[in-house]
Amino acid sequence: MRFSSYSILSEKKEGIPRTLLNGITGAVDLLGPQLEPVIENALETGDVPAALAHMSDEARQSLLNRGHLTEWSVDEERAIVNILADEAHKAMARRPSFMIVPNLDCNYRCTYCFERPMQNGLKSSNTAISHKKNNVVMQAEQVGQALDAIALLRAEQGLSEEGQIILYGGEPLDRRNQAVVRQIVSEGRARGTFFAAITNGHDLDAYLDLIGRGGIEQIQVSIDGPKRVHDKRRIYVGKESSFDAIVANVNRVLEHTDAEVQIRSHVDPQNIELFGELVDFFAGQGWLDHPQVVIYGNTVYERTGDGGVTSRIDVADIDATLSPIAQAARNIYTSAPEVHAERSILPALNAGEPMKLKGTYCSANTGNYIFAPDGSIYACWESVGKECSRIGTFGESGAELDAEATDRWFGRSIARLPTCQRCAFALVCGGGCAQYAEYESDTLYASYCDDFQRTFRSALTRTVERYLDHDCKQEEKVDA
Ligand code: SF4
Ligand code: SF4
Repeated sequence: MRFSSYSILSEKKEGIPRTLLNGITGAVDLLGPQLEPVIENALETGDVPAALAHMSDEARQSLLNRGHLTEWSVDEERAIVNILADEAHKAMARRPSFMIVPNLDCNYRCTYCFERPMQNGLKSSNTAISHKKNNVVMQAEQVGQALDAIALLRAEQGLSEEGQIILYGGEPLDRRNQAVVRQIVSEGRARGTFFAAITNGHDLDAYLDLIGRGGIEQIQVSIDGPKRVHDKRRIYVGKESSFDAIVANVNRVLEHTDAEVQIRSHVDPQNIELFGELVDFFAGQGWLDHPQVVIYGNTVYERTGDGGVTSRIDVADIDATLSPIAQAARNIYTSAPEVHAERSILPALNAGEPMKLKGTYCSANTGNYIFAPDGSIYACWESVGKECSRIGTFGESGAELDAEATDRWFGRSIARLPTCQRCAFALVCGGGCAQYAEYESDTLYASYCDDFQRTFRSALTRTVERYLDHDCKQEEKVDA
């Protein structure tokens, strides 16, 4: 008998019981004070006999039943991980995701925008996507073509047209493109579709009547620091302050609609120390613990000269810096992985059920179809407009998918990532961002860890803290 190779122990934090998660069974168990050091030591040293000697038969049996202790060999566990990854991947592929890009241009010039090279070419006549070619803003006839293609792709999986479409850009909600945005939402709604939008938030006031249940139900905006800092990073093409416009619009959305507003704050070494000041500002707006608001930190990634990708600060260091500030409210998270971790762990804790595991990192590896004004269908958010994520085309004669490209993007899962198969976090992480893996390693079929292991262990601790604090749960623990 040995401890599972897929054991994940939460980070230590004073006053919070440590949690043992098994990355095969999905069992999430709070540990009692006597068992905590025993398990920590066993996982560090591999001294299983010593650990077993310190626990009762009941504790041993409980850990065995939950998969933390196992009779399987390392290879047998790995084979199971591959099977589970494959199954999870297939299940996700039966629920494809859809995005529509009304506009590939943007009314902001953010200093770190990863779409800038494509957008710089929009004024040229020599580029594949340009205003001169009239393929930057979606044309009226393309709306029905995209929605028909989405309906067919959903039908192939036995799904009705009801479901979510994410509006993405460029800037999807630029007020100059109201006609096409209104057409997308109105025709989509008639088919039972609801929407989310990833927007800079500058022109939300022009779309308030579309926002809320049954329309655009979720909005994601970015605020990168107090006004004096934000305005220098997220720059509006006109003269006005982007900060003032976004803040006013977030308040309008909260006052007049029931939409969820996700506020993302990109942090790097230049602004991370100002996150506390920003949170104080949010408190003044009444956004802390607001039931419609989610606030989280996010890394800024940059391309390197040799085609790779980097960030000036590690995700886990962001997590460590923001974590004390995030204590200010239940709706502040240190990173997007923490938001996702809580959304998968909390239901498991509340229901006393295993956490749902996954075989892939994001929908770009299971079935994500992004319909853009250039008539292309892309798989990945990061590389809309780029050949590397183009998986097909759509138009008058319907959608045509490139079999090789779709297989390359949608075939990536833990079952095809040997490095990840040996990682305890395999079915919790899913292999990391495929596009960044390709930038770094010239293939989608490489791992991209991005500090996931450290970030997830601390997210596990904070999720348990929230579960115990806010829901007044009785602590049911496994102990020695
Ligand atoms: S592959 Fe990476 S960049 Fe592309 S959608 Fe997935 S997580 Fe985002
Ligand atoms: S990407 Fe890294 S953290 Fe994620 S499963 Fe693979 S090896 Fe583990």
